[in-house]
Amino acid sequence: MKCENCYSTVEETHSYCPHCGQKMGLGRLNFKQLLNDLWISFTDTDQGILHLIKHLAYRPGNVAREYVIGRRQSYFNPFNYLLIMVAIALYFIAQFEITALDYSKIESNDKELLQFAFKYFNVFILLMWPINGLLIWLFFKRHNTNYVENLALTAYLSGQTMLYHILALALFMILPSLLNALGVIIGLLISIWYTLAILQFYQTKSFWSILKIVLIITLSNIISQGIIYVTFQWYKTSFI
Ligand SMILES: [Zn+2]
Repeated sequence: MKCENCYSTVEETHSYCPHCGQKMGLGRLNFKQLLNDLWISFTDTDQGILHLIKHLAYRPGNVAREYVIGRRQSYFNPFNYLLIMVAIALYFIAQFEITALDYSKIESNDKELLQFAFKYFNVFILLMWPINGLLIWLFFKRHNTNYVENLALTAYLSGQTMLYHILALALFMILPSLLNALGVIIGLLISIWYTLAILQFYQTKSFWSILKIVLIITLSNIISQGIIYVTFQWYKTSFI
């Protein structure tokens, strides 16, 4: 038999090509195969997205660390993960019409701004991805990582944060009156998870590191609020 990927000759008994690793006898692409590949990319116990989501939930920094130091085959790629979460968030926003959220029950000085931030939350998380990577890299420069490694870390964290926001939005749509109280709790939980992620990634537990992470999260919040505010002003003058 000839491998369809690298064209080397392979014995009949092999189900995978020993030279490049591709499965033998795939033939031409068809719809069944496409669905099968999609299903596997979600459910695969090693490289699947569900496997990644589970591990990111309780050991986010270790996943990113293992990925960065060379364990690429075991985890779904961080940058693809971030893109997929952006796509899911887009789909979610389009389907559920975030504007349908009952804003009359929300006590806020600036409902329009809140509505704007909700509608484009995925854009803001995506914008903050390289900025957070830069902040973490600069604050932990003594640990000898490079910027791209920190980008991989924040791609995982931003992708997972986007997932948490999607779940939180779904919750708010069911229980809009809880938005104020739950918003604070969810924000706090995400911050704690984020802190643990960076501590795991840099394998440190020192008080000084925790202090630095609190500073990173604070700075990140100020910058993202700033970006949301500035783009909202621009949006208002251009579209409203
Ligand atoms: Zn091959």
